[in-house]
Amino acid sequence: MHVSREELDNQAIEILKKYEGVKLTPKTRGEIPVQEMPTQAPMVRITNMNEVAEGYTENQVKAEALRCLQCKNEPCIQGCPVGINIPKFIAEAAKGEYSAANSVIKESSLLPSICGRVCPQESQCQKFCTVGKIKKDVNQAVAIGRIERFVADYSRENDCDVQPTIKAETGKKVAIIGSGPASVAAAADLRKEGHSVVMFEALHKAGGVLVYGIPEFRLPKKLVQHEINNLIAMGVELNLNYLVGKTRTIEKLMTTDGFDAVFVGAGAGLPKFMNIPGENLIGVFSANEFLTRSNLMKAYDQKDSLTPLWNCERAAIFGGGNVAMDAARTAKRLGAKEVTVIYRRSEEELPARKEEFEHAKEEGINFLLLHQPHEIIGNDKSHVTSVKVVTCELGEPDASGRRSPVEIPGTEQILAFDTVVVSIGNSSNPLIKQTTEGIETNKRGNFIVNEETLETTLPGVYAGGDIVLGAATVILAMGQGRKAAKAINKYLTK
Ligand code: FAD
Ligand code: SF4
Ligand code: SF4
Repeated sequence: MHVSREELDNQAIEILKKYEGVKLTPKTRGEIPVQEMPTQAPMVRITNMNEVAEGYTENQVKAEALRCLQCKNEPCIQGCPVGINIPKFIAEAAKGEYSAANSVIKESSLLPSICGRVCPQESQCQKFCTVGKIKKDVNQAVAIGRIERFVADYSRENDCDVQPTIKAETGKKVAIIGSGPASVAAAADLRKEGHSVVMFEALHKAGGVLVYGIPEFRLPKKLVQHEINNLIAMGVELNLNYLVGKTRTIEKLMTTDGFDAVFVGAGAGLPKFMNIPGENLIGVFSANEFLTRSNLMKAYDQKDSLTPLWNCERAAIFGGGNVAMDAARTAKRLGAKEVTVIYRRSEEELPARKEEFEHAKEEGINFLLLHQPHEIIGNDKSHVTSVKVVTCELGEPDASGRRSPVEIPGTEQILAFDTVVVSIGNSSNPLIKQTTEGIETNKRGNFIVNEETLETTLPGVYAGGDIVLGAATVILAMGQGRKAAKAINKYLTK
């Protein structure tokens, strides 16, 4: 049952009253229930694009912080890819010192209000939390990400965010390709060292997947714009609509335009398709196109958008990852009467975060599990009319360790749909590799780099984020941007 933010706040107030002045032991801390994240009610939120998770109240933050045992061995820190001092920032939050808590986080992470929202915490920091381990349930761990989100939002909204200091100008110039989290982190760290930094972004808006992929209802775009504005205020020059490899090559940037080093954070934006009949019919989208048109090109505005998405009634989403959940929930908000996620394995193997899966179910998304699409069928105008699927059962585990789907002969059926969104993963765009001599990639098209420095096989050119890792996470991309910036700084000042 949906519980309102006000009710959750009242529950937190009761907890704070109960424990006021009480010397807390690990046992009493363990009795405090995990604070639920307030959300918009499901039937309300499918009618708007506003953020689903409304954020903890201050009382909830204090109540949740009481649950932290301040473990001496700090296991949670090893689960955070950038090593945030989690016990220290939670201790500050428990005292109501949110700005100090934010400063602790900012020593390691540049984008806490973003990571506090989108990090898969249950498989990172919270997976290692002692409280979750004692309770044998990761969902009972201290809600590190939710506290992180609160302190970062508080600091931004109250103008007490950490202000970066910029060292004296070095006269060195660095080109940053792309403007996703890897590039934002690299640009900020290099600018702080006093280098001149110019960012080149192919799209008309900066932010990478944070703006074109992750929908507004999970990550408000004003937060991303705030980080981009910070970069500009630091003196980073931003060039939009600039496709490196077409507008200019890396070689020209380095030999003609005077850049001393280059960081490539071009992401993994090339959608994969299933290669089944009918994928070129009208009404079939890649998740990338579907989400980009909705997020960046206002395609939901059927009347005034130059590139509106068509009015879909029954949408099928192929795939079971986070991107599939985003596409399904976006389709619902765009007015689809029925949205069905078709995934070939069972719920246990579904790669999407549990929270996203639960949110999707609450919003009325259907899940057709253990089914594999075989063909997309169209009418004489080449519009999608249906999808042929076959039922699967689970066989032996495959290379990924998950049980593989085995099709059951004779179980084909045809289901009516007018829209299909293929959401089965992305790979790196080959443009930069194709136009840059000396850059080598592995068989998946990811840049090969020195693991210590993130330098590519072309001297002076570094890379990080999804272009190296394959489709990964925001925090991993940000961590690589920082790591590369450190190495680039060393390269430029040696
Ligand atoms: P990107 O964010 O992909 O940015 C790359 C940028 O480079 C883009 O703006 C692109 O236009 C630009 N570019 C590419 N080629 C060129 C060129 N030749 N010249 C100039 N510019 C170029 N991760 C999470 O942690 N949590 C989530 O909840 C989550 N949800 C996701 C939902 C979706 C729909 C998608 C697609 C991904 C999601 N991810 C999530 C993954 C995460 O967003 C990525 O791992 C992360 O953004 C990668 O950062 P990046 O900086 O490497 O690249
Ligand atoms: Fe956890 Fe992500 Fe924050 Fe690290 S950045 S503490 S992994 S939520
Ligand atoms: Fe607190 Fe959990 Fe980290 Fe222990 S492991 S310090 S309880 S957040």
